[in-house]
Amino acid sequence: MSKYETVIGLEIHAQLTTESKMFCSCSTKFGNKPNSNICPVCTGQPGVLPVINKKAIELAIKTALALGCKVEPKNVFARKNYFYPDLPKDYQVSQFDLPLATGGHLDVDTEGKKTKIGITRIHLEEDAGKLVHQGAERIMGADSSLVDYNRTGVPLMEIVSEPDIRSPKEAAVFMQGLANLLLYIGVCDAKMEEGSLRCDANLSIRPVGAKEFGTKTEVKNMNSFKAVEKALIAEEKRHIEVIQEGGKITQETRFFDDTTNTTSGMRSKEFAHDYRYFPEPDLVPVEPSKEWIEEIRQTLGELPEERKIRWETDLQIPASTGNILISDKKLADYFEDTTLLYKKSPTTVANWVVGDINAYLNENKKAIDEVNFTPAQLAEILELIDKGTISGKIAKTVLVDVLKTGKQVKDVIAESGMTQISNEDELKKVIEETIKNNPKQVEQYKSGKTGILGFFVGQVMKGTKGRANPGLVNKLLKQLLEG
Ligand SMILES: [Zn+2]
Repeated sequence: MSKYETVIGLEIHAQLTTESKMFCSCSTKFGNKPNSNICPVCTGQPGVLPVINKKAIELAIKTALALGCKVEPKNVFARKNYFYPDLPKDYQVSQFDLPLATGGHLDVDTEGKKTKIGITRIHLEEDAGKLVHQGAERIMGADSSLVDYNRTGVPLMEIVSEPDIRSPKEAAVFMQGLANLLLYIGVCDAKMEEGSLRCDANLSIRPVGAKEFGTKTEVKNMNSFKAVEKALIAEEKRHIEVIQEGGKITQETRFFDDTTNTTSGMRSKEFAHDYRYFPEPDLVPVEPSKEWIEEIRQTLGELPEERKIRWETDLQIPASTGNILISDKKLADYFEDTTLLYKKSPTTVANWVVGDINAYLNENKKAIDEVNFTPAQLAEILELIDKGTISGKIAKTVLVDVLKTGKQVKDVIAESGMTQISNEDELKKVIEETIKNNPKQVEQYKSGKTGILGFFVGQVMKGTKGRANPGLVNKLLKQLLEG
């Protein structure tokens, strides 16, 4: 056991799924020609006035409700003053002492350990532009840098967690849980790799049992859920090493390098007062009415936990299976869509989805909507098993082939000749052959060791390359052995 305890808090930036920017009507569309989605407002020209995007407020309130936060009756935008080339106004419009929402939580289950992670606050702000460095990946060492203001002013929701996270793994699980929730309620497409969901982490360590926090560092540049875990493992290790060698941790911002799995110092960590926050004079405070908040609550839809409970009651899906399904909204939708096509046994559908299908997706690092395999195709395979056209075992092979090639189920089966053998005469031939070749085992069976039947089934399966109808094999074997 380590004598140190790790303390982690996360600051998550989620790009909201609005059509237009936070304070102007420019498009938020990704991938357009550089500096084509810009106007005098988002590039900070003199004499312009910002207008709040109502949809952005609505989506942030929706998130607050889903996380059990209190939506503040009055929230105020403030200017956060600093200079950087990607920030044309020299200040970012954010929220400071009066954020949109406070005090919620997200429950996480990290390898069986359940924890309630507090949410400190949710506030809205605008994104900065994007610098493209020439000759180096970072500004340090670059020959020159270009700036694209298309992203400037895109609505961002910042979600700040309490320092309740106790391990790098738990941080990654929290991020995944949050991303899943944001996807469920449709406020963010939550792709860390594409930057629509970003995360900075504050990490410190302290002796086990201590009440006071150690000195924290902030880790940036984690571009996937896996990177969150890897970066924090590296930083946790570094903290412990510095302290064990009698050194002191400096409060600073550190950059994670995914190729070396190390963090390096970027700059000394700034404090809130460095930014000279003051209320944005061009915007009125936002005061969402109770009626509007209730209206938004009605649009929340079914949250993951509620969905799991409904499946447990209506479809008899065990909670353990339900947990795997709800942790990936796309997979959960896939499961539910399939149960509508194959109504006989939702449990069978669930087992295939969390079993073979999920294993294939994990192995190939793909999401269910990135492979060519529709709910109708899974339903078709399950029907073919029921009809006895293919065995359950063959079905697993068919499934992988369909997933790999994107071909139709029927074509895969026809091409490979994998249909099940349910013809008695054909099977009898193989069984008789098996009996002839294993006289010792036949004797054992006849002397009462009927458990040996499994051996014969296995031999017949081998002889038919798994295509024999197992029920029929059992029946015929007994007949022929006892006859
Ligand atoms: Zn604009």
